[in-house]
Parts: sequence; C-alpha cells; structure tokens
Amino acid sequence: MSFADLPPLLAEALSARGYAAPTSVQAAVLQPEAAGRDLLVSAQTGSGKTVAFGLAMAEDLLKGEQMPFATTPLALIIAPTRELALQVSRELGWLYDAARARIATCVGGMDAGAERRRLSHGAHIVVGTPGRLRDHLERGALDLSNLRIAVLDEADEMLDMGFREDLEEILDATPPERRTLLFSATMPKPIEALARRYQRDALRISTVGEERGHGDIAYQAVTVAPSDIEGAVVNLLRFHDAESAMLFCATRDSVRRLHASLLERGFDAVALSGEHSQNERNQALQALRDRRARLCVATDVAARGINLPTLSLVIHVELPRDADTLQHRSGRTGRAGKKGTAVLIVPYQRRRRVEAMLRDARIPAEWVQPPSAADIAARDSERLLETLLAPAEYDDQDRALAARLIAERSVEDIAAALVHAHRAKLPAPEELVDRGERPDRRDEGPRAGFEDTVWFKINVGRRQNADPRWLLPLLCRRGHITKRDVGAIRIEAEQTLFEIPRQAAARFADALKRTAGEDREGDGGVLIVPAQGGPGAGPRGPRPGPRGDRPNRPNGPPRGGPRRDTRPARPKVKQK
Ligand code: AMP
Repeated sequence: MSFADLPPLLAEALSARGYAAPTSVQAAVLQPEAAGRDLLVSAQTGSGKTVAFGLAMAEDLLKGEQMPFATTPLALIIAPTRELALQVSRELGWLYDAARARIATCVGGMDAGAERRRLSHGAHIVVGTPGRLRDHLERGALDLSNLRIAVLDEADEMLDMGFREDLEEILDATPPERRTLLFSATMPKPIEALARRYQRDALRISTVGEERGHGDIAYQAVTVAPSDIEGAVVNLLRFHDAESAMLFCATRDSVRRLHASLLERGFDAVALSGEHSQNERNQALQALRDRRARLCVATDVAARGINLPTLSLVIHVELPRDADTLQHRSGRTGRAGKKGTAVLIVPYQRRRRVEAMLRDARIPAEWVQPPSAADIAARDSERLLETLLAPAEYDDQDRALAARLIAERSVEDIAAALVHAHRAKLPAPEELVDRGERPDRRDEGPRAGFEDTVWFKINVGRRQNADPRWLLPLLCRRGHITKRDVGAIRIEAEQTLFEIPRQAAARFADALKRTAGEDREGDGGVLIVPAQGGPGAGPRGPRPGPRGDRPNRPNGPPRGGPRRDTRPARPKVKQK
C-alpha cells in the first residue's frame, strides 16, 4: 500500500516529509470500506493518527485539488490539551498547505480575540480544545452549521478530563449529516456511549494491538520500599543514562516534588502537569527537543501528544491506573524501530496487583532489582572508558597544555584527574534502604530500650501482602521514627502489630496524627492506631513481655498461621 491513490497535493506533501508508506492506522482509514463513513478508531499517539484523520477528511474538504470557498468551518478537530491541539494544527498545516487550507486554532490560554478574528475571516479547518471551542460557540464566533466532518482526538482523555458536556454541546451544534471520526487510545464504556449517540454505522478500526506488538519495548518491574521510590528513580536514570527519558507520576503534586528533587540532584529535567501555563509547556518541550533537558516528569494528561524520537526510557514512577494507561505511557518509547525500556516502580505491597495487571494484558515483564550504586559505578566506568578512548582530534593548544601537565604530574595522575572530572558531573547514585533482601536477623543481639514498649496496629495483614520490607519504611515515614525505634512486628491475617519503646510512643502517635492525610507514597487508607494490650491481648492470650533480652518469638508459634517476627537489621534509613 502506498500513498499513490491520494489527491496529488497530499501525496506530494507526504513525500516532501519523507513519508513513503502509510502507517497501519493510515492504511486502515484509507481502505475503500472506510470512505465517507463514520470511524471509531483505537489508535495511540505515535501511530500516525493525526495524518490518518487528516487524510480521511480529504474527501470532505477538497474540491478537485483545492479547498472550496467557505465562510464557515468544514472540519472541526477537538483535542484534550493545548499541546495536542497545536500539534494537530501543525500537522494539518503542512499536509494541507499546498491545498491552501485556512486553519484556525482555538485553545485555552491563548488570545481569544485573535482567535475570533481568525474565525471571522473564514477558516476551513478549526482545531481546538473543548472549553475554548464551546466559548466561541456560545459567543457566536464559531458557526458549525455547515460542518462536514468532526474529529474527536484522544476522546477517552477528553471524557476523563470532564469534557463530556462541552463535547456534546459542540457536536449538537453541527449538522446531523456530518461525518464523525472518533479516535481514542482506549475504548471504555463512556466512549462507546458517545459513539452510539453521535455516530451512525461507524466502521471500527483497531490498530492498537499492532502498535503494541512491535516488541521494541522491554518491560521491567522493580519492587521497592515506598520510601525508596525516589532513590530507585535516581538509580534507574543513572544506570540507563538514556538520551531522553519520560517519568510518569499520578498527580501534579508528585510531578512538582520529583521534578524539584531531580533538579536538586543535578539532572536536567523539565516538568509537565496541569499547573503549567502554555508558555511554560512550550518552553519545556523546546528544551527537550533541543536537548537542554533530558528528562521530562509528567502526568498522563499533560504528556499527551508528546513525541520525542530520542526517548528510550519510560519510568512509571507512580503506577498507571490500568494496563491501557501503562501501554500508552510506555508507547512513548520504542518508536520507529528503536529499542525502548519501560520500567515500573512497584512498591512491595502492590506487587501482586501489578503482576495481575501485566498478566491480564499479556505484557511480559522482567522483575528485577533496582540498580545499586555498585551497578551504576560499573556502568559509569564502561561509559567513561568509551568516551575517553573514543578517537578525538586535539589542536596545538590542547597538546601544549598536555605537555605542561606531563611536566608537573605523572601520566597516571592526569588520567585520574580526567576521570574524576567526568565523574564529578554525574549525579550521585542512591544507597537504597532495601533492595529486596530480607533483613538479616541472625547476628543481632538483644536490644536495649525495648524493655517497656507500647503496641500499635496497622490495618494491613498477610492478606494485604504485609511485609516488614515495606511496612518499616512506611512506619518511619508516617511516625517520624527510624527503624531502630521499631521492635517486634507481628503480621496477622488482617492486621499487623508492632512495638515502639514507651518513651517514643507519644511522639510517634502524635506524628501519626499529623501525617494521617498525607498519602505521600500512595499508602492512603492505611490506618495506624495504638493496639490495646498488644498482639496477645484479649481472646488471643497473654500479652508478650518486653523483648529486649528474649528470643524473637517469646510465646511459641503464633496462632492463625505463620507470623513473622522481624527485628530489622541496623537501620540505614534515610528520612526524606
Ligand atoms: P501521531 O500519532 O499523529 O502523533 O504521529 C506521530 C508522528 O509520526 C508524527 O510526527 C507524524 O508526523 C509521523 N508520521 C505520520 N505519518 C507517518 C508516516 N506515514 N510515516 C512516517 N511518519 C509518519
């Protein structure tokens, strides 16, 4: 299949861009069966979907080779974000340039007066975001009464963002005989409902599977203690040393925090989230394009439409809400035949859920340890050698300075200084509190300070995958203590009990109250309260005594299945 059957002006525009053959979504919308019909298309950013609907609408727009005379828009494209709308506008711009299409872009955050003037001069194609389009419609600046084709781009995202009413109002203002193309990465029920209401006899096209299936993305999952998430991110970035990387967070707050922290550590990073103005977005994207920044920290929504050819690493810093989002985020890498890596950072307690998600979506992922400082040092050395041993040209000035250095220092010292200078530019890796090894309890002697303790309980137990490896950091974070302050831990079916020295208990309880709503690492819903009488209290039997000078399991095998008593190894906890 080639672009040969297209109107020559469009075929020429494509070949001028160097696009020789249609992508699968383009081939699908160009098949004869799709001509003139409503289309319901599952396609993702990067699939060439913008050109796909650009080509699909040619038959509604072109009269012979040219655009017809029109005082009101013939085609309307609605996209969820400013960035995406601008990108669509740019793509249609070059595609329809020779056909002399007039395109008006109407997006929130831009000059509405200028947009109104452009609309009043007569635009063939209008591209915009839902809210701004609705504004123009209500003020009478946008006349949709002659519209021939409406395109909803990333429709799932628009519904998620709460634009359903705006979309309905806009579509209701268009003629019923218009064509409607609905593009969406995912097809949840609300999208199907929208399609039923606004489409007639739509041809369903799905290329999502193929896009996913091209296998250029290697998925990895690393389990970490919740307090180690950021450290793991740092180490992954340092280990992979990707030309560009994208880091996904769930909220704008986490984007802000992670971005600040990466900058502080010396990474070149930009942030994209709902809190940024159009101007800030543009600057961030420009910095990524011209490589002043290598990392982009973003929310799902803010990252829509971004297409960076150099992106080889995606880190899911906070887990995606479902497999579709996982694939959509990951699909930012591994494009155009290049290899990409997508890494999921999985807090221990979420491992089972993530395993199930990956299994259901048939995504083969490798479960690995986050890179350690030693792994990174080894990689650094390889890379340094490669850089320093690469052939290079030196001018006379370089050689003259070299001669002076050799006169002063040994060659070995000079080489070491060179290596040191290169290393000094690299952000330091993190010592992770826990890389998944079990705390070693064997060589611990009795601990002082636990003669008199208070028991607390937390509402997660074996059924919720409770494990000291993630519970301890959580307790430290929420209660502002260190691992040293936690004594025995008893994991029961539905809850876990642990002891805190009495002299630290009031402070601990107080910190718990203050941090209750924080939900910093996604442990919302976890409830920590004093446990009256400890694990053995009430119907369960006698309360265990102080444990500083006793073996770990003073009361013999616990009831209700295997419980784990853990005395953590000497803590290396870093409080953030
Ligand atoms: P999109 O999925 O619309 O975000 O497009 C992803 C990128 O692929 C854009 O930069 C397009 O210009 C580019 N593209 C679109 N069609 C083709 C094609 N047939 N061959 C190569 N690249 C294309």
